[in-house]
Amino acid sequence: MIIDAHTHTGCMLNFIMTEEMLLESMDKYNIDYCLCSNGEATEFDHNHYLLPANMQKTQESVYRTNLKFARANRDKIGVLPWVKPYLQGVTDELERLIAENLDITFGIKLHPFHSVTRFDSPRVQDYIRLAQQFNLTVLTHTGMGEYDNCTVVAKMAEKYPDVSFVMGHMGLGTDNSNAIELVSQYPNLYGDTAWVSMESAIRCIEKCGSEKLIFGSDNTIDGVDTYDNNGKGSPSIYRKYFGELKAILSKEDYENLMYKNAVRIYRLSKLRDKC
Ligand SMILES: [Zn+2]
Repeated sequence: MIIDAHTHTGCMLNFIMTEEMLLESMDKYNIDYCLCSNGEATEFDHNHYLLPANMQKTQESVYRTNLKFARANRDKIGVLPWVKPYLQGVTDELERLIAENLDITFGIKLHPFHSVTRFDSPRVQDYIRLAQQFNLTVLTHTGMGEYDNCTVVAKMAEKYPDVSFVMGHMGLGTDNSNAIELVSQYPNLYGDTAWVSMESAIRCIEKCGSEKLIFGSDNTIDGVDTYDNNGKGSPSIYRKYFGELKAILSKEDYENLMYKNAVRIYRLSKLRDKC
């Protein structure tokens, strides 16, 4: 069983990630279930220029598209709505949509880099309190910048001890050491493996225990074969997760990483309860 707790759909900046591509890749690489955030709620481009108005969609309309996809594929897809702290903030409509779709909504996705908004800003904290209210997990992109560094996320984990925080990428562009240290310190702070080397994942499990790391990939950011190569034939880091890591970790640790932690931390069991 494999659950990928960090995937995307949508046409976002230079990435084309259709719903069909995600389903095809799940089939091809034996992924049982994905938590998916539609990336069309991106606010700024890679150079921190605000996207023009004709490229901005509301967080609610993007969430609705995400929900429709998940409803049509309920046994395969769950939703982490990608929100817009810079242009919108928490709205009544978003709150109502979450309340109406709690059975397939498992968290809130923030991208401080593409929202040019610090993770500890008041606007982001409004979303954290929304997650708290609905018992949802907060997934955030983490990198090495002023908006998205792991230390700022840890500060929020300390301030909101009853909310689970997942640091996507465990500090993209870093050697993951700071993220691993922080994950070891806060019980409600977790990491995911999107673009994290197998070696860093092993270090994380050795230091923090196998309950603190969740398999995630950013699929289908490099196309249908994101799990296998970068779209140009170079091997993907995920090959090792599906291959040699199985022989390195104990069965229990491997299962925690590849699906059991996602079930627990994102409370996926409510899916089963509703069936
Ligand atoms: Zn991502």
